[in-house]
Amino acid sequence: MPTTYENYIDGEWRDSTSGETFQVRNPADTDEVVARFQKSRRVDVLEAIDVACDAQEDWAETPAPERGAILKRAGIALDRRRDEATETLVREEGKTQSEASGEVGRAIDIFHYYAEKARDLGGIEKSPSNRNAELTTRREPLGTVGIITPWNYPIAIPAWKLAPALVTGNTVVHKPASEAPGVSRILFECLEEAGLPDGVGNMVTGSGSEVGAPLSDHGSIDALSFTGSTAVGTEVARTSATDLKRVQCEMGGKNPTIVMPSADISEATEIVGVGAFGTTGQSCTACSRAIVHEDVYEEFLDSIIKYTTNLTVAGGLEDPDMGPHVSESELTSTLEYVEIGRKEGATLETGGSELTGESYADGHFVEPTVFSGVTTDMRLAQEEIFGPVLSVMCVDSFEEAISVANNVDYGLSASITTQDLSEAHEFVDTIEAGVAKVNEKTTGLELHVPFGGYKNSSTNTYREQGDAGLDFFTSTKTVYMNY
Ligand code: NAP
Ligand code: MG
Repeated sequence: MPTTYENYIDGEWRDSTSGETFQVRNPADTDEVVARFQKSRRVDVLEAIDVACDAQEDWAETPAPERGAILKRAGIALDRRRDEATETLVREEGKTQSEASGEVGRAIDIFHYYAEKARDLGGIEKSPSNRNAELTTRREPLGTVGIITPWNYPIAIPAWKLAPALVTGNTVVHKPASEAPGVSRILFECLEEAGLPDGVGNMVTGSGSEVGAPLSDHGSIDALSFTGSTAVGTEVARTSATDLKRVQCEMGGKNPTIVMPSADISEATEIVGVGAFGTTGQSCTACSRAIVHEDVYEEFLDSIIKYTTNLTVAGGLEDPDMGPHVSESELTSTLEYVEIGRKEGATLETGGSELTGESYADGHFVEPTVFSGVTTDMRLAQEEIFGPVLSVMCVDSFEEAISVANNVDYGLSASITTQDLSEAHEFVDTIEAGVAKVNEKTTGLELHVPFGGYKNSSTNTYREQGDAGLDFFTSTKTVYMNY
């Protein structure tokens, strides 16, 4: 019998009011029910919002270093449970063992990073225009905040929102993604063990419409941090704006890597390949377009096809190069895009089919896929696919490469492979993306620098991670002190 997990509200593990639950299955073997979770309703979230509001004043008055010490202990607790969290992530989301353990490690590091920040929350001193005066600023918490997260980084993203929210004195109601709520549950168990006071951190599982929506439409929620699709994020931002909530939505991407003639083609292949097929292409920063100069187009295409056909695909516990899609619907969506690409006239070079046969029979497995001859007018080149599908596009100049790279509605991450310093700088100057990388893959982020997108990838209100995480979760009070 799979374990049934509860909501975490006011320091207690509780069933939802209705008592209904939903199940999460292993995407590599759908016969396995990994766990069951509470199918909560609006009434459950309202309860969590109430207790979070009640707990906020005391939490804000708790000295920041004490709040930091709790985060530090939670990080240590998670470190102790590293293997269990990694396996949970593999089983519920389908990541490979290496990807999952990397992500769990990231969550631990984030807790430790913001634990240190507790002693250094900032505030500035400026020169006043009067004598006997002080002119300073201080950071204050916003109040009670909502956190809504996607399934594709189901422990790192909750951690990078929870940690800065809590350390700055906010109380939190978190709704994890329904495909992968098990690792958020572990985060809250660690926070509980670390001594987080009752009501300060709350987690409620259930659907977006029942559990997510109240976090954007409820007047007692002071800020909402959302990561997910552009479609849902746009709606969430619109609703949040009606009562002037502070809102931050990080959303989809259509990330390019430009390959110039001076690039080392085997290095460029690795950069594009890992970016495109790592996490089964289910990263907001995944590379979905290789924009290649005509002088190296054939060489690069041969090389990336070879790379792709050599990838191993299997259940994540076997630690292959690529695991399954998270769900049937994501698999179906990828296969639909393969069909769309074919009809649009792109050339399917490799992959494109669901994997069947013994070890694949009960999972959502698809072949890593490469299309060539893709042009900007194609849907293949414009829409977020969120699967292991790479479009290779040919351009005849650096200028055209930049123009093609920017010719999408998204602007999350972008990279270039080149040995030409001028091209590298010009790329950084002109690319429309929140993250610009030279000779690096589009995926992979450092936790202590800002992260976020341009255009439809983000509300572009605040960045996440690093000091930007503290900015989002605090208000600045300017103090004029004459004495
Ligand atoms: P999603 O479908 O937009 O869901 C994101 C979260 O919103 C989930 O917790 C979902 O709940 C919830 N939700 C759904 N409808 C809602 C509503 N009406 N009100 C409030 N919340 C609602 O995204 P996903 O499929 O989980 O994740 C994939 C997407 O996330 C991709 O587009 C990817 O690019 C994006 N992403 C962006 C970043 C970034 O930092 N820019 C990072 C990772 C992923 P349920 O799970 O219960 O449906
Ligand atoms: Mg979804």
